[in-house]
Amino acid sequence: MNDFSQLLRDKKEQIVNQWIESVRHDEAIGTAKELTYKGVRNNLPRILEAIASMLTQSQEQDIQELVRSGLEHGVLRAQQGYDPEEVAREYRLARETIVSMIQEDLRNASADEVIRVIRLIDAAMDEVIGRCFKSYTEERMREFKDLQMQLKLTNQELTRLVRASKENIANLAHELKTPLTSIIGYSDLFLRQQRNIHVSTDSVPNVEHIEKVLRSGRQLLHLINDALEISRYEAGQMPLHPSVTNVRVLIHNSVEMVESVANVKNLEIELNCDRAPDEVLTDPLRLQQIVINLLSNAVRYTEKGSIQLTCKTLSDTEWSIAIADTGIGIDEEDLKHIFDPYFRVRTNNNTYVPNSTGLGLAIVSRLVTLLQGKIEVTSQINAGSTFTVIFPLEILV
Ligand code: ADP
Repeated sequence: MNDFSQLLRDKKEQIVNQWIESVRHDEAIGTAKELTYKGVRNNLPRILEAIASMLTQSQEQDIQELVRSGLEHGVLRAQQGYDPEEVAREYRLARETIVSMIQEDLRNASADEVIRVIRLIDAAMDEVIGRCFKSYTEERMREFKDLQMQLKLTNQELTRLVRASKENIANLAHELKTPLTSIIGYSDLFLRQQRNIHVSTDSVPNVEHIEKVLRSGRQLLHLINDALEISRYEAGQMPLHPSVTNVRVLIHNSVEMVESVANVKNLEIELNCDRAPDEVLTDPLRLQQIVINLLSNAVRYTEKGSIQLTCKTLSDTEWSIAIADTGIGIDEEDLKHIFDPYFRVRTNNNTYVPNSTGLGLAIVSRLVTLLQGKIEVTSQINAGSTFTVIFPLEILV
């Protein structure tokens, strides 16, 4: 027995070298190809030394060195980026190398001795592999925990940044609103005064200029208000004020608000509220915002034909408003994006419809969610679109 132990020691360098060579050339151990010779060698001689010492004693005794070298090997291979199959393969090659190196000498030994030596080598290998995988797994878990912690911190930082920038945008918009409101107010006043006094031909261009300022100012204010509305919703600062609401009155008021624009385009708004619920429990202001937005879009994107608003009770718990137009329609691809903030479909000459911000439907969809409802849309290019909102008869407070 001592002979085999000594044999392993004598051939240690040879075995280690062959082991390293086979590890470095093995197709199944890709990671080793990225390491230096030293990196692969590392504590392999120690493992071999520990196996040799096990052959001199009974396998239960003094396996401390084997345990230690197995544990260290596991940590090292984990740090080097080996995957578990590569570690297992490395040990398989070790076993093959050791046996092939002592093969000649085993041939001259008795059968009992051969069995004993092979068993001891197997036991030593099993022990070292077991320890190696234990520390390998622990090291991997430690890395995962570190990574998880880093990801958590990064995520927190990102959330903080997003929140900070949202607040910044909201603050900026607030700051912009005040001077804008005053620009609009004063230019409005100026215009009215100009119209009242006798206007010389020279002053007409001035009026045109101020009208431009007024138009741009109004559009900017509209954009800021919409952006603020979205950021308020995202920040969870859009409270619900539910009250018992007369749906028919609310719809009539909403229609009145868009009627003048529809009249200019000769579009009739037809109402069908025969089956509408008499009363619902909802937030009337938010509901009106939804209806006005959908009606304005129907008018804006329709040149001829009509707009139909149908309101009806669907069941004991639900009711709906459908707004159908005979306008330009929306193609299938664009339909997927119309509720995204700032999304607008370009017109035929590659421009946008004046006064559009791409925020209207984004706000509508958020308001619909706030009112515990859902929104559906069907559309056909050059035939028209129908937006349907479905709400509970009583929102949960
Ligand atoms: P905006 O109308 O201010 O551009 P919206 O968010 O309200 O923003 O609408 C997004 C896009 O969806 C619009 O640019 C338009 O292309 C399309 N759209 C909305 N409503 C209609 C409609 N009734 N008919 C055709 N297209 C519509």
